[in-house]
This record gives sequence, structure tokens and C-alpha cells, in this order.
Amino acid sequence: MPVRPITIAGEHVLHRRAAEVEQFDEELRSLIADMFETMDEANGVGVAAPQIGVGLRVFVYGMMNDDGVPPRGVLVNPTLVTSKVSGAEPDEDESEGCLSFPGESFPLKRADWVKVNGYDGDGNAVEFEATGWFARCMQHEFDHLNGTLYVDRLNQRYARKAKKVARANGWGQPGLTWIPGVDPDPFGH
Ligand code: ZN
Repeated sequence: MPVRPITIAGEHVLHRRAAEVEQFDEELRSLIADMFETMDEANGVGVAAPQIGVGLRVFVYGMMNDDGVPPRGVLVNPTLVTSKVSGAEPDEDESEGCLSFPGESFPLKRADWVKVNGYDGDGNAVEFEATGWFARCMQHEFDHLNGTLYVDRLNQRYARKAKKVARANGWGQPGLTWIPGVDPDPFGH
């Protein structure tokens, strides 16, 4: 299964709601395998289907956690319930990054707790709770399925910085990708 190019902010599929998966078939499982491979090659902790150019409600994650949840998994057609976000301004150590906004990170407040429901690649129900960084990861990936990037959620100060970075890199238009394992790792891993 091949590593897929990762779409960069500006690609349409990243900015619109992804469609529900209707068939739990070989094609879906092959997509999921590609997503795991791409995530690993990119040294990421999560990849959503729109990030490899596919507008479907699927994401994979790879993250150790304190919640007793397998450190690698896939969610198809997930739903998310979150606790309230507390505190006004994010701390510097709450920085988030995204493979589709490569090489950058900005502080963002997130909920400390989420409950995730969805399906695995075979259509079996999956349900768990997540806290801390794992909860952040779930919120970030789930956002991707609704066409939202974390940079869309930044406070004014960081949003301005992110906009500047995007402009300097020529992002914000369709057709831009990078290839994990071929292009240099944007986060220097
Ligand atoms: Zn992302």
C-alpha cells in the first residue's frame, strides 16, 4: 500500500464537510491501510482522509494514552461529545500542529475530555473516552471531517501569525501537497 501525498491548506477537500462512509468494504480497508502508512511515514499522530485528498469521514490515530484505549486505531463515521473548554487564552505549551499546515504550531485551547463513538474498518462499533493530549488529538482529527483546520480556531493573535505564514509559503490555494518520506519532514522528526 502506498504512502499518499498530504494535502496542504487551501485544497478544497480540507475545507468542506466529508461524506459518511456507506460501505465497509475492501476499498475502505485499503484506504485505511494507506492512511496508517502515510501517518507513520509522516511521523504524525493522526491523519484524516481529507488530508490524503479523500472526502470521507475516516481518521486514523497513533498515540499512547492514559485512557486504556489502544494506541493505534481508526474511526469511521465518528461522533464526538466534549467537555467545556475552560480558560480564556491558551498557554504556549498547548501548541498544536497539523500535517496539512506543515512545520508550524500554534497554541489552542481544547476540551480536556471527549467521548468518541464510531466504527472500525469492519463496521464494528467503537466507543471510548479520551483525556488530555489524546482528547486534543481526537478533536483535531474530528475537525478535519467537518472541513475545519486547527488554524481556523486560533485566537486573533495566533490567527494573524498563521495567516502570515500561509501567505509566505504560498498556501491557501488548491493543488499543494507534500510527500512523506520523499520531501523533508516539515516538523524535523
Ligand atoms: Zn491536522
